[in-house]
Amino acid sequence: MKSKDLFQQHLAQTTEHALGLEIERAEGSYLYDINGNPYLDFISGIAVSAFGHGHPRIKKALKDQIDQHLHVMVYGEFIQNAQNRLAKALLKTLPSELDSFYFVNSGAEAIEAALKLAKRSTGRQKIMAFKGAYHGSTHGALSVSWNEERKKDYRPLLPNIHFLEWNVEAELLQITDETAAVILESIQGDAGVRIPSTSFMQALRQRCNETGCLLILDEIQCGMGRTGKMWAFEHFGIVPDMMTAGKALGAGLPIGCLAASKALMANFSHSPSLGHITTFGGHPLPCSAAAEGLNILEEEQLLDQIVKKGNYIEEKINHPSIQAIRRKGLMLAIELESEVAVDTLVSKAMERGLILFWFLSTPNAFRIAPPYTISTQEINEGCGIVHDILDELM
Ligand code: PLP
Repeated sequence: MKSKDLFQQHLAQTTEHALGLEIERAEGSYLYDINGNPYLDFISGIAVSAFGHGHPRIKKALKDQIDQHLHVMVYGEFIQNAQNRLAKALLKTLPSELDSFYFVNSGAEAIEAALKLAKRSTGRQKIMAFKGAYHGSTHGALSVSWNEERKKDYRPLLPNIHFLEWNVEAELLQITDETAAVILESIQGDAGVRIPSTSFMQALRQRCNETGCLLILDEIQCGMGRTGKMWAFEHFGIVPDMMTAGKALGAGLPIGCLAASKALMANFSHSPSLGHITTFGGHPLPCSAAAEGLNILEEEQLLDQIVKKGNYIEEKINHPSIQAIRRKGLMLAIELESEVAVDTLVSKAMERGLILFWFLSTPNAFRIAPPYTISTQEINEGCGIVHDILDELM
């Protein structure tokens, strides 16, 4: 059976229009198909491959860990060096309030853990989320996500979820002393890179303090340096009670993380114990890759580069048929005049060896989220392809 037929018939499909690129290998900013054709990666597998593909230090960390051990026990029972190394590396990046980590296997799982911890810690049930939000595809994460079309067939979802208008301060009065938690992305990703104002974020923090409600910031897409700061909440001068991370955290391996204070996280361990459990959470391979990724970010001073490269892409990509660019660091949404224009651009770019992608809920925009290690020449190449196609479409 041909590999394409196997893929289509025996691997679950999430769309009838999969891009279907047949990958042989990946290196730096390029993927290569089975015929040796290169594809410039302008999206990092949706904000994941932040250090490019096949970074030698990540490969070495993984090989070393394989030689030591793989899975030895479910999360939380044994002391494992890889988990400790990751905790140590994360501590260096976070404010002292966030000093305890629960490692899970995906972003959505980190969201599930955060919602559960909020309920158990406060004894309250109500959760506030935001219009435009995307937090993942499991039942709990879907419950606090906005897009109704993607939720309707899975009801009943979690009860007691209320949605607020994004970035509107007056809405915050709906947070009361009955609210367990407010959950939001520090910068909305799938809504097409929606950046809240500093005054909104500070008013939100203040309202949570007044009502005893816990503030959960989802940094799964916008964290890990993507916006030019280590964590996007740093742009707004606030600190959450809980933070979720994922995607780029694993440097290409699957991992999610819930960060909270030691005191808050302790609620999972008693009354009753095993408040949240997972077999593979904190697996030593993703933990090793993630710890090394954080070291690379620091030692190679990538945050500065993210800021410079983001500015450069915005300058370079500019074109008369672009309606709007929303951007922080290397997280970009580029709006065209229609959904059709976006579809045409994404598919023609692929034919010419450039990988772009859509947003889940913003059909008239496409995303750019390249590896932080992308070179100026590669940025020029990608922007050149985008311009050629937009010129043809005009
Ligand atoms: N939160 C945000 C902001 C995301 O962008 C995503 C994934 O796109 C998730 C949560 C869910 O992460 P995962 O797909 O790893 O479950």
